[in-house]
Amino acid sequence: MYYPDCHMHSAVSPDSSAPRHVMAQAALEAGLREICFTDHFDLIDFDGNYSPDYDWTNARREHRRALEAWGDRIAIRYGVEVGNVPTDFAAADRGLSEPGLDFVLCSVHNLSLASDGVDFYAVSYDSPALCYAHLDEYFELMRQSVEWGGFDVLAHIPYPLRYMRERDGQRVGLARYEELLRHILRRAVETGKGIEVNTKGWSNATQADYIWLVQTYRALGGEIVTVGSDAHEPETVGRRIPETCRLLRELGLQYVAIYRARQPHFIPLED
Ligand SMILES: [Zn+2]
Ligand SMILES: [Zn+2]
Repeated sequence: MYYPDCHMHSAVSPDSSAPRHVMAQAALEAGLREICFTDHFDLIDFDGNYSPDYDWTNARREHRRALEAWGDRIAIRYGVEVGNVPTDFAAADRGLSEPGLDFVLCSVHNLSLASDGVDFYAVSYDSPALCYAHLDEYFELMRQSVEWGGFDVLAHIPYPLRYMRERDGQRVGLARYEELLRHILRRAVETGKGIEVNTKGWSNATQADYIWLVQTYRALGGEIVTVGSDAHEPETVGRRIPETCRLLRELGLQYVAIYRARQPHFIPLED
């Protein structure tokens, strides 16, 4: 099948050191046919600082280099992962006016500035109460992001659980957010937005979360599901993409989505 990976980072992001052409080569070697670079444009940076201005110079240069090296062997799309949008919706809109963008993923990585703006990754989760206090704010920020709507696909909806559950061993889950998540997914469907199955930090519990999310989104009429490895280094490019495509097919999906020029295109899910 024509395997895509619609979520990956490069040295354009502060948390990766891999040039785009190296990531593109790894994608080709992993058997992928199409990739999209989605480097971070976070309105609150990793250290919790307000960061409204995004400079595209580096992304443009890196992208050109990747296209020159591998663009005739693999489709390489120009995207971005915008994070923490409720911090400043106007700054997000300004940053996303970059010409030629293929794809915009929308994420919540940090608590709000009023709650110190800390990245969910940077917290040590030592109790379920702490987890749920953070998850309450996380999903409220996601709800506000969906209402803003200036994106294509909601990235890694269970994001903080990677660190609360898979890393720190807390027994927490999505159950108490099902009603709010149904509302978020309904608004996504109504406004033509997709959801992502993100294969980073995968576990049986992650898989169960995504099965619930995809089935609920589908039951509400949603049709746009993208897949992404969220790779920050060449070794993890395309990781679990074939298995995830198989899982989506088992869930009754016929297509996985990719984006070109901010429009969804649908790839048949085949063996
Ligand atoms: Zn992310
Ligand atoms: Zn990412």
